[in-house]
This record gives sequence, structure tokens and C-alpha cells, in this order.
Amino acid sequence: MEVDYLIIGQGLAGSALAMALLDQGASVLVMDREDSHSASRVAAGLITTVAGKGMNPSWRQSTYLPEARSYYRELERASGEILFHEMDTLRLFENEKQQCKFSDKRELLKQWVDDADKADYEGWKADCGGFLMKHGGWLDTQKYLKVIRDILGDAYRVSDFSEQDLKFENDAVSWQDVNAKRVILCQGAAGLRSQNGSIDESLFAYVNHRCSKGEILTVSIAEANEDKIINRNGWMIPIGDGHWRCGANYNWDEFSKGGTEAGREYVEMQIQSLTDKPYEVLSHTAGVRPIIRKSQPCIGHHPEYQKVSFFNGLGSKGVITAPSVACHFAQHLVHGAGIDPELLIEEG
Ligand SMILES: Cc1cc2nc3c(=O)[nH]c(=O)nc-3n(C[C@H](O)[C@H](O)[C@H](O)COP(=O)(O)OP(=O)(O)OC[C@H]3O[C@@H](n4cnc5c(N)ncnc54)[C@H](O)[C@@H]3O)c2cc1C
Repeated sequence: MEVDYLIIGQGLAGSALAMALLDQGASVLVMDREDSHSASRVAAGLITTVAGKGMNPSWRQSTYLPEARSYYRELERASGEILFHEMDTLRLFENEKQQCKFSDKRELLKQWVDDADKADYEGWKADCGGFLMKHGGWLDTQKYLKVIRDILGDAYRVSDFSEQDLKFENDAVSWQDVNAKRVILCQGAAGLRSQNGSIDESLFAYVNHRCSKGEILTVSIAEANEDKIINRNGWMIPIGDGHWRCGANYNWDEFSKGGTEAGREYVEMQIQSLTDKPYEVLSHTAGVRPIIRKSQPCIGHHPEYQKVSFFNGLGSKGVITAPSVACHFAQHLVHGAGIDPELLIEEG
């Protein structure tokens, strides 16, 4: 089989890159071994426009957010599925210090925060108040990945790729029966993290990273107001029918595949800090965030094997960054446009 680009991994990175390359008229084959615990399969899919304790917009949010929204909307039109659920987020303050910090920043954040104090705290533990953030929501990542697979059709293959079997000939690279101009590794944490020593053989083993495992509970809560996402340290996302996705912890040291007792306890503690309502845990999942430079994605080529490229490091912001960075990378790959230095992978 002959293709322009062989993409390894169909998470948020590989999916957006495949779409961007197809848009540029290139041919692709996407291979994925369908890890059930991959970050994109378990992610909450949140876009919060004022994030973290610092209460800041995400990196490049003003540019990347409109591009991400129009990318997901276009896919919704093509597929007839609802993928991005636009929804306000009620951000609750932890203490008075946060209240003051927000007051100081309010003018700077006005684009992302409701003008009036419209926040409705009914049903939530909100002793210190909070604010309503706008223009965010959540992506149904499972549905999104399925829509992309349907679009790809025969250009998608379930396969467990191994770098050791790559063959480099003349101006091309081959893997099993596939000959491509280039192979692009979009493997998320599996392409970064040490797994039984296999990372030592990885072409991109030199990339510095600090991945973080996160755990999520899906719970049912009767009679909670389901019109907005709730966020303090943790978050709760109403996904319909009285079900909420709740999370998530950051574990920097333990990368086992399933959920842990400690992770579950942490998330339950977050839920109880947000509401007194009784809840029932329906499921518990976990995945590893691929973090290289905080949540700034990295793209580029291997310094020695120039036909092998890399798109990774989406961190905890893949939903907002992947579409724009994928377009930028596709422009480089297909038309030779320069790579933004802030996105360029380290040289090794
Ligand atoms: C608990 C949790 C909550 C999160 N919440 C959010 C959020 O609210 N908002 C947000 O924007 N981001 C969130 N993230 C982060 C987001 O999930 C990641 O940024 C993003 O999913 C990473 O996508 P990726 O494509 O780089 O990697 P992955 O999703 O890991 O995808 C890599 C793919 O490569 C495949 N693969 C790997 N190795 C091979 C191989 N050898 N052969 C074949 N296939 C292979 C895997 O099967 C997988 O499908 C969260 C992550 C976690 C863990």
C-alpha cells in the first residue's frame, strides 16, 4: 500500500493531523492499537476558558479556541452528531484570597467571564462565591474519535506498530506492507513514557517529559441542576440523564492502567467538596496525560531519521490545541511552511 503519510495513533493528535493532511490533498493511513486507557478515550474533553488556580486563559486561547470550535462544528455538520457541548462553567472560589485575585484580574478576563454576576449557586457548596465562565464546554471525545474513524474508512487500520520494524529506503519509509513518504508518531504518553524499558529503543526517547495519570468517575446524581459545568479544584460535567463525569487527580509517579483506590478517594473528595447531594459511582477510568512543555504541544522531525516525525505533548489541553497545531504541521509537511519555533521539538 502506498500513502503520503503513515500516522501512528488515533487520539486527539493523530485524528486532527489526519484531517488536516486530508484537507491539504495528501493521502494518509492511520494505525492504532486501540488502547482502552488512552488519554483521548478517557479524557473529560473540557475547554475551560479561565483555568487553574492562577485563573488564566489557556495558552493561545484567543486564536486556538475559535479554530477548535469551527473544526468540531464542521465535523458535526458532516457527521450529524453533536460533538462539542457548549456550556458555561461555574467556577467556585476556594477562599477569600482567590476572590481578591479574581477581582484584580476581572477586567483582563472580561472576554471570558459573564458581564453581570449571573452565577447561580443553587445546590452547590459555594461559601466564597465564584463566577461564570463563558465560551467553553466539553467535547465528547469517544464520539469524536468514532466520527474520525468513520471518515477515514479504509484509511484506518487496527495495528500494533513497532518502530524497530521500520525500513528506510531512498526517499521513503516502510512498515510491513505500507510504503509512505513519512511516518508521524502521535502516540501520546505511550510514545514518551518508560514501559518495561521499551522507551530506550524509541526514536524520541530523548524528549524530556513529565506525564501525569488522571482518574475520572462517572456518577449519577438525582435532581442536580444540569445546565452548567462545576469547577473548583476538581470539576463535574453534566453529560445527561442525571449522569456526571467527575475528576481528576494528577499522579506524577504511578502509571498503571486502571483506576486506583487512592484516585477514586481523591475524586470522591472533590465531589463532596462541591455538593451534599447523594451520588452513586457508575464507572471509574484512568489515563495518562502526555506532558512535555506544560500543555504546549510539540511537533517536528527526528534529528537523524528525517522521515520520522512527531506530534505529541498535548498535556491536559488537547481539545483546544490539537486542531490548530495539526493544521500548522500539515502546512509544513505538505507545503514546506516553516514550523513555529514555540512548537518545535527539542533537537536531541
Ligand atoms: C483523566 C484525564 C482527563 C483529561 N481531561 C482533559 C480535558 O478536560 N480537556 C483536555 O483538553 N484534555 C484533557 N486531557 C488530556 C487529553 O486527553 C490529552 O491531551 C490527549 O488526549 C492526548 O492525545 P494524544 O493523541 O496525544 O494521545 P492519546 O490519546 O494517548 O492517543 C495515542 C493513541 O496512540 C495509540 N498508540 C500508542 N502506541 C501505539 C502503537 N505502538 N501502535 C499503535 N497505536 C498506538 C493509542 O492506542 C492511542 O489511541 C485529559 C487526560 C486525562 C488522562
